[in-house]
Amino acid sequence: MFLQGKTALVTGSTSGIGLAIARALAAEGARVTLNGFGDRGEIEKLQEELDASYSDADLTSPAAIEAMFGEAGPVDILVNNAGTQFVSPVDQFPVEKWDLIMALNLSAVFHTTRLALPGMKERGWGRIINTASAHSLVASPNKSAYVAAKHGVAGFTKTVALETAQSGVTVNCISPGYVWTPLVENQIPDTMRTRGLTRDQVINDVLLAAQPTKRFVQVDEVAALALFLCRDEAASITGANLSMDGGWTAQ
Ligand code: NAD
Repeated sequence: MFLQGKTALVTGSTSGIGLAIARALAAEGARVTLNGFGDRGEIEKLQEELDASYSDADLTSPAAIEAMFGEAGPVDILVNNAGTQFVSPVDQFPVEKWDLIMALNLSAVFHTTRLALPGMKERGWGRIINTASAHSLVASPNKSAYVAAKHGVAGFTKTVALETAQSGVTVNCISPGYVWTPLVENQIPDTMRTRGLTRDQVINDVLLAAQPTKRFVQVDEVAALALFLCRDEAASITGANLSMDGGWTAQ
């Protein structure tokens, strides 16, 4: 239980990767604040399971993020994980979808970081872990907003790591390839429509086309890496973009 006495805020932790990270942190004794959308009853069950607090803050709103920090108290471990996807050719990309992806996948990471950092620096210890993506390193067609935002997260991570290098705070991003979560499931219909493919074709020829292992990354694998970054042995890992993509970006 090496995280006893530490607090953790995991954004977008009602589902998928964030939930797996929240479970892993709680299992090591961290006091976790969950965040994200979903069925209220399911979220209450999760709160009980993890003995966790919960914020329903919509992270596209800087005011809501500020209010969440007001309620959460000091945050030792900040996991910026909330994110969304939309698939469309750039010249047909709906402007409101672009703005949504920039606000949630990129600007929210700035707002949570600026609010968490002063306390971390004061206490001389902190961990900021950003869920980026293989799309923080390489592109795919029809994902202009997502790829731009995730490249932004990778650059932001490096900058904040340099600014905090002597403060006991580390700042890193984890860049998974395709992980089997609702986010991936939900983009299958769009891709079927925009590329005229069947469900199986989207899974095998589009999603896993670039992933040499031909298997989806598992949420528990991402959570295990996030947990390692919280250990004292990870004190020298900062400013890193850690790929977990089945060899995708090795090509
Ligand atoms: P998911 O859809 O399962 O979970 C997304 C979470 O974000 C949910 O808890 C949801 O409620 C929350 N959320 C959505 N909009 C929000 C908002 N406005 N305010 C607050 N919370 C909000 O997705 P996931 O696959 O677990 O993705 C998590 C992160 O991992 C994202 O940043 C995503 O880009 C990244 N990622 C996912 C994959 C993948 O293949 N699934 C690969 C690489 C990176």
